[in-house]
Amino acid sequence: MKVVLAQPRGFCAGVNRAITIVERALALYGSPIYVRHEIVHNKTVVEELRQKGAIFVDHLSDVPDGSTVILSAHGVPKSVKMIAANRNLRVFDAVCPLVMKVHREVLSMHAQGLTVIVIGHEGHAEVEGTMGQVDDNIYRVSTPEEVQALVVPDENKVGYVTQTTLSTDETQKVIALLKSRFPAIKSLSPADICYATQTRQEAVRELAKQVDIVLVIGSQTSSNSKRLRDKAELEGVKAYLIDSADDIDPTWLDGCERVGLTAGASAPEHLVQGVVEYLKARGADSIESMPGREDRIAFPLPSGLH
Ligand code: SF4
Repeated sequence: MKVVLAQPRGFCAGVNRAITIVERALALYGSPIYVRHEIVHNKTVVEELRQKGAIFVDHLSDVPDGSTVILSAHGVPKSVKMIAANRNLRVFDAVCPLVMKVHREVLSMHAQGLTVIVIGHEGHAEVEGTMGQVDDNIYRVSTPEEVQALVVPDENKVGYVTQTTLSTDETQKVIALLKSRFPAIKSLSPADICYATQTRQEAVRELAKQVDIVLVIGSQTSSNSKRLRDKAELEGVKAYLIDSADDIDPTWLDGCERVGLTAGASAPEHLVQGVVEYLKARGADSIESMPGREDRIAFPLPSGLH
């Protein structure tokens, strides 16, 4: 059996920054450090930080006065930031700079009097944060049916933004339909799908062409990891989303000569290596990495954590 590793895969710059923010806060201020929402959508990362002294909470009301609290990489509605600012808390915002860019787009469109359409999945933390940048005149869609059903105050004054971790194919269909329904629709960027999502999706698509099965390491809550599985399946191979080697059903590998392996933007490399070891123990005798660029982008830390 041969194992082929996607390149790039795994941690992106936004996830690296968010995890570093929690680790630096723990080192500088000691435990406990409170984190609102899972810092990134990965079970292993959250558990490792919990063991180092992070306490994950759903609401700021669960954070005692005088504590240090970190807001997750997905971004938060402005109401959460206001509540945090009005409490006796030391706050660090781990929102990814690329999500911040989308927030700025929403604010700019809203200030121009446009109705803002957010293309994104219902209930996802990033979408809730993006929608929460303004109080009104903002709607969410994720499917062509939802675009058809949209009713806006003025069809000539509409703009759209996208969740950063969607599938590029899926988004293009929704954008095309938005443009046909609202020919004057504006967007500040063609799509806000981030560089890490795009490069990992391109890599898994190439990978899927070369293998019999694709294993995607990522949690069920991770939007970008689920999109990697979808992209692989679009190429006609079986693809599975797993948290770690423990989730592999050995029957998936029956008859497979080439196994493809990738990881979502929030999945650590040690989990990839754990799956490689599992496959070696089951007869994999060749491990190779696809040609491709490693992800070398890095985002600066917020002040106060250097
Ligand atoms: S996937 Fe993209 S938007 Fe999300 S944290 Fe990573 S770099 Fe930022």
